[in-house]
Amino acid sequence: MANVHELNYLKEKIQDLKDQGVYRKLPILEGANEAEVILNGKKVINLSSNNYLGFANHPRLKKAAVDAVEKYGVGAGAVRTIVGNMDLHEELEEVLAEFKREEAVMTFQSGFNCNAGTIQAITEKGDLIISDELNHASIIDGARLSKANKTIYKHNDMDSLEKVLKDNRDNYRNILIITDGVFSMDGDIANLPEIVNLAEKYEAMTYVDDAHGSGVLGENGRGTVDHFGLHGRVDFSIGTLSKAIGVIGGYVAGSKTMQEWLSHRGRPLLFSTSLPPAAVGAIIEAVKMLMESSEYTDKLWANAKYFKEKLGKLGFNTGNSQTPITPVIIGDEAKTMEFSRKLFENGVFVSGIVFPTVPKGTGRVRCMVTAGHTQEQLDRAVKAFEKVGKEMNILK
Ligand SMILES: *Cc1c(COP(=O)(O)O)cnc(C)c1O
Repeated sequence: MANVHELNYLKEKIQDLKDQGVYRKLPILEGANEAEVILNGKKVINLSSNNYLGFANHPRLKKAAVDAVEKYGVGAGAVRTIVGNMDLHEELEEVLAEFKREEAVMTFQSGFNCNAGTIQAITEKGDLIISDELNHASIIDGARLSKANKTIYKHNDMDSLEKVLKDNRDNYRNILIITDGVFSMDGDIANLPEIVNLAEKYEAMTYVDDAHGSGVLGENGRGTVDHFGLHGRVDFSIGTLSKAIGVIGGYVAGSKTMQEWLSHRGRPLLFSTSLPPAAVGAIIEAVKMLMESSEYTDKLWANAKYFKEKLGKLGFNTGNSQTPITPVIIGDEAKTMEFSRKLFENGVFVSGIVFPTVPKGTGRVRCMVTAGHTQEQLDRAVKAFEKVGKEMNILK
């Protein structure tokens, strides 16, 4: 008999990954997440981060982080319900509530954690969760932790959503409709006005995960709810502090009742140590910077428009994105991965995304343009796309 400590059952699964050609090593970044980085020892233009506003290595955020470390130390020392709730955490929630134009905010240690903790806390047996079929993995996992029944509707398809609501309304007490605000693979925006109308018609609650909308859409990056002017009509407005905000963390913005309840039943809050002071200090600074000026979001959108137009003119298929997320759709899975590999050789890092993350035959490289890119860097990236596109007969 083999030794149990050899973990042979996992070795077999790893071999399966290798046989399927999907085994990979984690890429290694030397230094900060910037527009141009050294990745696996090679200098490349970075078109794959979620660092939309270039805040991850911003001097003002770094200074705020250092100041917070000096005053509060490096760790919060406990969960928030015991002695890990610093005045800094309270300040963060006040600043975020003001920014989001909502009554109250409850923060978590990450966006993932926020979904995992919140969905199970606000639903129970006898309720129904209705989820867009393309919702993020953390929503799926969060819903799995809930005792409510779950069902999906077709991606952003309002007829499909209405049918699910009509068929199920009378069988459940509370219904919660969950959608991403911005969908991360295609960059399309949820039809939130119609989702909210349907929710009100069928007396359901709404939950919007705005991980890719926060810091991007709406006035100075206030998010998808603000973009559509739907304040007060979305019950749970989730944001991440790890993407555009550049640090780490997640939050729910909404009513005081929401916040009161989650402070008693949000399990990550009760059983996991609160955000470290450096992160909290930096986030507060980031939110203040957004409230002061639209400089960062303006630059993001200008860069994204510039890059998208250049790629489109060359003849690439950039899909139906309505946001800075710019997919370049190649189709075939192997060809997509080769395209990404060749771009890397030519000094551009943009990760290939293929089945099962996106449907078969819709493989793409997903370009994440940020406010931190210079026009010169974008021009160089476009040149590399053109060269590799021609070499591979993707462009005529
Ligand atoms: C990235 C993402 C998350 C996770 O956020 P983290 O703060 O990185 O944990 C949650 N939901 C959606 C829709 C996301 O895109």
